[in-house]
Amino acid sequence: MNPEWNQMETVAQAYRLGTRYLEGRQVESPRFISELLLRTALGWDRTGLFTRFHEPLPFEAAQRFITWLKQRAEGIPVQYLIGEQEFFGRSFRVEPSVLIPRPETEILVETVLREADRIWKGKAVTAVDMGTGSGAIAVTLATERPDWEVVAVDRSPAALKVARQNGAKNGSGERIRWMQGDWLEPLLKRDLRVDVVVSNPPYIPAGEIPHLDVEVRVHEPRMALDGGPDGLDPYRTLVRGIPAVLKNPGLVVFEVGEDQSETVGEMLEESLAGAQVFFVSDLAGRPRVVAARTGMG
Ligand code: GLN
Repeated sequence: MNPEWNQMETVAQAYRLGTRYLEGRQVESPRFISELLLRTALGWDRTGLFTRFHEPLPFEAAQRFITWLKQRAEGIPVQYLIGEQEFFGRSFRVEPSVLIPRPETEILVETVLREADRIWKGKAVTAVDMGTGSGAIAVTLATERPDWEVVAVDRSPAALKVARQNGAKNGSGERIRWMQGDWLEPLLKRDLRVDVVVSNPPYIPAGEIPHLDVEVRVHEPRMALDGGPDGLDPYRTLVRGIPAVLKNPGLVVFEVGEDQSETVGEMLEESLAGAQVFFVSDLAGRPRVVAARTGMG
């Protein structure tokens, strides 16, 4: 079915047609998505949309809205259409070159902040975010802790460009050192040591990627998803290199995928002698974060 796009004379009609179109294409949360796309196309906020609901719809907004509805129905995540995702209460720009930050990753950030405060008692630390993508983690750490020195590394120049924009957007860009390179290499090359290593690396086993939703499988960057045959390759690489870059005491915090926490915990125990390894679970009780404290005596 193709709705009668020409009957979209008012904002209200557009909202209803958009909702019906998305429903017909089995898109999740059709009302919410229709509203979000419509007010973004108009450049209005929520209140604006509802107070001006019966106004005529400007032609350009209608064109943009129809294009976005079709793209959403084809599986493009709404965040790439509107170019934005919220993370830790702040707005982040997202493009198809970066993974859309997920709410679970806030657990990782909370763990880093809490444990670092515990270990260093509020003193400034140096932290590196490996595979920064949109910069969600690095920018949040630098914004939450203005006296920290934060380094953000990514292999993808396109991702680093988005991450830098997010630093500027959130007012912490100049305090972050952006480095392009493969995992810990940029640090090793500069002989740089840090107190904290944090990463939400790609951790999906390659063979599972074809079974993911089209939004993720087709539209999110494969580089940000694919963790090799068992999903653990990035952890192996990181854990191998960490002893050469981590100061003492030190803190390592990783996000992990389903059923990976035990193995990643063991890797950390083997590589960092005497480290205290612990896990943090999400609200559903699944372990999502694996962390290690070293040099605690
Ligand atoms: N560090 C970014 C995030 O957590 C990107 C992670 C990734 O691309 N795997 O959102």
